[in-house]
Amino acid sequence: MLLVHKIELKVNNKQANYFAKACGVARFAYNWALDEWQKQYKAGQKPNEINLRKYLNSIKNEQFPWMLEVTKVAPQQAIKNLGTAFQRFFNHQGKYPKFKKKGIHDSFRADNGPAKVGADAVQILDKKMNLPRIGWVRLKERLRFTGQIKSVVISRRANRWYAAISVDITELNQVHKNQGIVGVDLGIKTLATLSTGEQIVGPRAHKQLLTRVRKYSKKLSRCRKGSKNYKKARLKLSKIHAKIRDIRIDNLHKLTTDLALRFNTIGIEDLNIGGMVKNKKLARHIMDGSFYEFRRQLEYKAKWYGSTVVVVGRFYPSSKLCHCCNFINQELTLSDRQWQCNNCNKLHDRDVNAAINIANYTRHANMIVSTQSSCGIYACGEKSAGAAVNTAA
Ligand SMILES: [Zn+2]
Repeated sequence: MLLVHKIELKVNNKQANYFAKACGVARFAYNWALDEWQKQYKAGQKPNEINLRKYLNSIKNEQFPWMLEVTKVAPQQAIKNLGTAFQRFFNHQGKYPKFKKKGIHDSFRADNGPAKVGADAVQILDKKMNLPRIGWVRLKERLRFTGQIKSVVISRRANRWYAAISVDITELNQVHKNQGIVGVDLGIKTLATLSTGEQIVGPRAHKQLLTRVRKYSKKLSRCRKGSKNYKKARLKLSKIHAKIRDIRIDNLHKLTTDLALRFNTIGIEDLNIGGMVKNKKLARHIMDGSFYEFRRQLEYKAKWYGSTVVVVGRFYPSSKLCHCCNFINQELTLSDRQWQCNNCNKLHDRDVNAAINIANYTRHANMIVSTQSSCGIYACGEKSAGAAVNTAA
């Protein structure tokens, strides 16, 4: 199984310049290949990425000698990526490839291409990584996985540099679990609430950053679009967002490892619609990103540790349902953090109640799935897509 760990880099000026140059070469190669592809197609030919790579190799020394200043894998991989983009387009999985713009999703492949069998694509020692043509680059954290390193893609977000390191994990760690089913409700200020009643609160820095986002969003909205101050505020804001994202991802890793280790079956929501709070736009931005990341991590770790993830359908009223008597509180609003059931008078913490309902649903879905073991999808209700069950082998 291939896992990717994205680590922020501590770069010096020389390294940052090289990275920017390599991103430029990769972008140029991609755009050049897309242009060639379109020309060949119009001329009635059948373009493909392998021939385009060969073609570029044959002309680059003469026509684009500056390409030789960076690793040859950068332009080669960019053209391979174009091939993949066209493949996705032909399979109706993606849109027609577009030309790349500077500063948007800048990235390039930084290792030396496919390594010998059993060999690592790059060398990593503790918190540093040895890249071809560049030498040792410092990492902000240690590589989380052990296994064969397959590739390294360097990318930029705001003015930070990251390495996405792909690792092939052959031996899965199997661990004994001691607990059964848990339901998880994700939130903004409280990272997650479990049906056991545990609440996982994010670090203080996270809370402070959220306040700063509000401040700079306001500032940005007061600036004239395109002005110097506007650009400054926008950069500042994207830096804060990047920081929030890093903190959340780091905390999600701790959470998902803990969940996959402790529980046999983990119930999560399809999309967190119930947990939205006052500042809707900000909340949505942060929640969407976190949610996909949470699910992604949880699904591969569940496979790793042999647990099952059950995804609760998005029409299941996990927040509004009283877990004691099944009464549905239609009056519940987004700002209600607590509520009392009109039917059985039980006082609920909104998040804990939701998490318990998710756990109950999961228990039910899990029972059905285990009796129809080969069936991976469990559908329920008319509106709902039901629970998609990802049963780990
Ligand atoms: Zn009740």
